[in-house]
Amino acid sequence: MSDENTKSKEPRGGGALRVYRQTLPWWVLGAVVVGAAAGVALHEGGVTPEQVERWQLGLPGDLFLRALKMVVVPLIIAAIITGVSGVGDVRKVGRMGGWVTIYYLGTTAISVAIGLALVNLVRPGDGIDLGAAGQMPEELAIETRSFGQFMMHLVSVNPIGDAASDLGAGRLLPLLLFCILFGAVLTTMSREVKAPLMDLFDGLFKVMMKITDLVILLTPAGVLSLLVRTMAVHGTEAFASIARFGITVALGLVIQAFVILPILLKFVGGQNPWALFRAVSPALLTAFSTSSSSATLPVTIDNATNRGKIPPRIANFVLPLGSTVNMDGTALYEAVAALFIAQAYGMELGLGEQASVLVMATLAAVGTAGIPSASLVMIAVVLGALGLPLEGIGLILALDRLLDMGRTAVNVWGDVSGAAIYHGLELRKEKSGGAGPAAP
Ligand code: ASP
Repeated sequence: MSDENTKSKEPRGGGALRVYRQTLPWWVLGAVVVGAAAGVALHEGGVTPEQVERWQLGLPGDLFLRALKMVVVPLIIAAIITGVSGVGDVRKVGRMGGWVTIYYLGTTAISVAIGLALVNLVRPGDGIDLGAAGQMPEELAIETRSFGQFMMHLVSVNPIGDAASDLGAGRLLPLLLFCILFGAVLTTMSREVKAPLMDLFDGLFKVMMKITDLVILLTPAGVLSLLVRTMAVHGTEAFASIARFGITVALGLVIQAFVILPILLKFVGGQNPWALFRAVSPALLTAFSTSSSSATLPVTIDNATNRGKIPPRIANFVLPLGSTVNMDGTALYEAVAALFIAQAYGMELGLGEQASVLVMATLAAVGTAGIPSASLVMIAVVLGALGLPLEGIGLILALDRLLDMGRTAVNVWGDVSGAAIYHGLELRKEKSGGAGPAAP
């Protein structure tokens, strides 16, 4: 896909609408602040979760989320197929895929290592009253899969049906793989076969982005409603009992988002981290308030290409893949939670066990679905593998929803950074006369 496509998606519309579009990040930020404050005020005023439900405070938010999810499956299909086939040469697809895989696994592992270092330093689990552990929620029926079942699951007989039936169940991966295969094979076909199909998916992509553009206009209302509901139900007192755990996770997220990723952006990608951060801030705030990287994907692609000037051929491949497999914040959270629970139960994990947590959390994050609280299931898997009691999850439930906001925003920031760094490496290579970054 050519970069001209981006230009046609530049903010348009007359007068007030144009001003609204240009100032959208501020409206969304305002909605986050006002929504959180109003939610806390309601909570402090004694409003119960049943009342929040009865008054339908979350209705605009749910409608906004559903509208975003409505776009995701057709958008992923169009984005990945145009992304992969637009690269033009199957070897280049392989090179981008190889680079992205290494970047994703590498940055996720760094994030987990930061979490492990902090949790050993702060030791938030020491002196925790285990009587405070809640019950495991019933919907967390843990489904452990054998390796064979996992492989069977990857090769779906109906990838579209799987992905569309429930965005939540982590079933996007088979569709992604199918679309990568489709796009890669398409590049090897004759012109007569290739041209109409590429036009078709290119058109589909443009229509889906246009719909996304309309949904994005509703972000402030959606974000306001989601924040009011979350804070009205959970309040801030959840922090008190396990504040040190919350602070450890938050500190780790801040280091990953504001130190590690910016360093990589600047020194590996030659990019201006702050400019990129500002450009994609609406997507980060959407991730923060929806706690779903899958639902945020349409906004992420829109911001990265239109505001962040990342070429669609890179963004359309790297971002959908990242929203499903690259979760820096989630991996950090899963590792810190597992060690926190171990500490609370008075179990010391040695270096070897912590190294296995590093590997497990990195891989578990790849398998975590991009939906709210998906981490809980994966933490159960990690706990099970370490022989720790699953009931320990009860300890972190109170804070999960709030920390989910932060870790989802970091997940999306990691995806965008990957796309921008790859773009930066390409620009460098072009300057020096090469064809694109080699796999590291
Ligand atoms: N909510 C996260 C996401 O969508 C996943 C998780 O950590 O629960 O990225």
